[in-house]
Amino acid sequence: MAIDRRDFLKFVVGGAVGTVLSPLPWVSMDEVAKWTQRWAPIPENGGTSYVHSTCKLCPGGCGIRIRLINQKRAVKIDGNPNHPVNRGGMCPLGLAGLQYLYQEDIRVKSPLKRIGARGKGQWKPISREEALLEVTTRLKEFRQKDLSHTVAFLDGEGEGSQAYLAARFLKAYGSPNYIRPFQLGDLEEILTQTIHGIRARVAYDLPRAQYVLSFGSALLDGWGNPAWVAQAFQGWRQDHRQGKVKLIQIDTMATTTASLADEWIAIKPGTEGILALGMAQVILEKGWYNKDSVRSKTSGLDGLQVLLNKNYTPDQVAGSTDVNKETIHKLARDFSSAQHPVALWGKGKGELPVSLFEAQAVHLLNLLAGSINRPGGVYLQPGVSYASWPKMPLDGTAQKGLAQPRLDGALSSNYPKTGHLTGRFFANAVQKKPYPINVLFINEANPVFSIDEKEVLRAIDQIPFIVSFSPFMDETASLADLILPSPTFLERWDDSYPSLGVPFPVYGLTKPVLPPLHDTLSMGEAILHIAKNLGGTVEEALPFKNMEGVLKQSAKGLYDSRKGRLTNEPLAEKGKGISASFESFDKFWEQLVAQGTWYHAENRGEEGKGRWDLSSFIRRSGEPETAETQAQYPFWMVPQSLLLLQSGYLANPPFLTKSLGKETLIKNMLVVQMHPNTAGSLSLREGDGVVISSMKKKIRARIHLFEGARPDCVFVPLGLGHKAFDPTLKNRGSNPYPMLDTVVDPATGLEVGWATRVKIKKA
Ligand code: SF4
Repeated sequence: MAIDRRDFLKFVVGGAVGTVLSPLPWVSMDEVAKWTQRWAPIPENGGTSYVHSTCKLCPGGCGIRIRLINQKRAVKIDGNPNHPVNRGGMCPLGLAGLQYLYQEDIRVKSPLKRIGARGKGQWKPISREEALLEVTTRLKEFRQKDLSHTVAFLDGEGEGSQAYLAARFLKAYGSPNYIRPFQLGDLEEILTQTIHGIRARVAYDLPRAQYVLSFGSALLDGWGNPAWVAQAFQGWRQDHRQGKVKLIQIDTMATTTASLADEWIAIKPGTEGILALGMAQVILEKGWYNKDSVRSKTSGLDGLQVLLNKNYTPDQVAGSTDVNKETIHKLARDFSSAQHPVALWGKGKGELPVSLFEAQAVHLLNLLAGSINRPGGVYLQPGVSYASWPKMPLDGTAQKGLAQPRLDGALSSNYPKTGHLTGRFFANAVQKKPYPINVLFINEANPVFSIDEKEVLRAIDQIPFIVSFSPFMDETASLADLILPSPTFLERWDDSYPSLGVPFPVYGLTKPVLPPLHDTLSMGEAILHIAKNLGGTVEEALPFKNMEGVLKQSAKGLYDSRKGRLTNEPLAEKGKGISASFESFDKFWEQLVAQGTWYHAENRGEEGKGRWDLSSFIRRSGEPETAETQAQYPFWMVPQSLLLLQSGYLANPPFLTKSLGKETLIKNMLVVQMHPNTAGSLSLREGDGVVISSMKKKIRARIHLFEGARPDCVFVPLGLGHKAFDPTLKNRGSNPYPMLDTVVDPATGLEVGWATRVKIKKA
């Protein structure tokens, strides 16, 4: 069975990677979907044209090309072959992007005002003007009462000009509570600040890496920019035949990535950081580290070695991780003797925070190997000053509001490096601590689905006015008081920066390829209207007529930097960049709009400030499990990230839900995977129903037997169990997010959770 399954996985992954590079299978699905999903028919005749833009369905920022018929019907999205990251490839989600545009029962089609009790689904369509007026009236009232700090904004977009606009609006209005849900980049910035003295993104030069050590990162199931990773993987496969590249996957299950790796190390859940430190101990003891790099660039090596020798010898680490000491030695030797080794952290797709301990431990391997800012290694991704906006005026009311503490406690003396703590925001909103929240704006976030559901629902109960910008009726939007629906990324001006995990700056421009199909307004446009209605310094802070004007301002920063190039533009002279090619900003803007992308491929690797600090490596924290907990909850529930299943704020479009295999979903029942021996010990057989209970919640599922699963674990896909959204997804499967046990990482304040103790019973 194991062999069959691995072969099956190889087939699926081969298919998936091929899909990323060639959209043909998805075109066929498009044909099926037209008939099965009640799509309006594609016009049969008409002129074909193509428009370049940027996909906004994930932070990858792929360049896309949209095929239009008669300039009024979009019929296909594929990758822009000239884009420096995806080079014509796309992931299945991006290829399915048209469904978010055309699928009738996904969209919220006009502003809606709640008229019944919250969550009862009773809405009244209202005009945009009415909706904007209602928001403005409330905001004016709280400002007049010196309560501007009680207005909060939860923004899942978090980056790019629209997010910058929202954060600036809130600041000018007078609230410190602009918060975004966790993004892997937040932890990368804490990591680099701690060790390198600068806030930077951690990006990996995967195409040139020759020994890739992944600590649970779902490289072939949506981690980072899936199109970029898939391109790198294709290259590895070619080089692999010549014995040049190795991929080692450290994971609790033979995931898609593990099944295609050269080696799969079945580690005990939650001990990835310990294994990394065990390897580091061996590398230092044997003197296998890159001495030139470590001696010239780091400080604190002696203290680190004392810590490792005391707590992380191979014997100790083998006992904690279930990885035997011979394997620890071999990994340490192979990693440190490889050409271009790189180690990656961020489990699954990076949906949930890992501890700073784990990120630091894995990053240490890169430091010891001298892989920082080197080809095939890790680059501290430099920023680019793309948003050169005018100075912001703050009136007395704004200054008073901004002097209040943030509700989430981020950037406080307890967590000075952490920018956002969403979990704490909701916990304190429940307690009204230190003050109540009166208005909450929510954009591109669905906390009711993806955070501790009960806590968020309690917080929502305490907030009198919630405004959602969601284009879809998701779980959180369905509890709002007002929905001001945003258009999709195919109908609005927007941008994307940076491209997740890519080691050089890439700026993608998104533009409307069609007029909005419904009565929608982008979050950015809505904020500009509200600021204008509020007047005074709030209006002055956002001196833009519309989102196009905002983006022009951002792009001016790129132009003024005199660096980089546009997608199709060869450099006039090596090293000269755009200044050599465009005589004016207007010409640059015209071309940026036409081509959709600016990038600066030569700009890699910030050096950081001073020596890289190895003494800052923190000790492991967290309470050890009690024997009682282990006896009561003898298994681990391990979340599973899948390429075909969206587990962030965006839920699956129907295409992808229909593509899920029977090892994920059977009719409406979630399928979880477990080892046959585990099933045998519980008298379970293939397909049996089970109830899985954590300390917080229980879910029902069917089991699928799989020998590539650790026997002490049950593997549960992330992304099903929606109680809202569209009929193909609603009430299908169960949502494991509310079951997850999280602990507060004392170093960052982030709520860290992944594997969770559970018990399993036959249903
Ligand atoms: S990787 Fe992200 S940006 Fe690229 S096509 Fe997929 S969803 Fe769109």
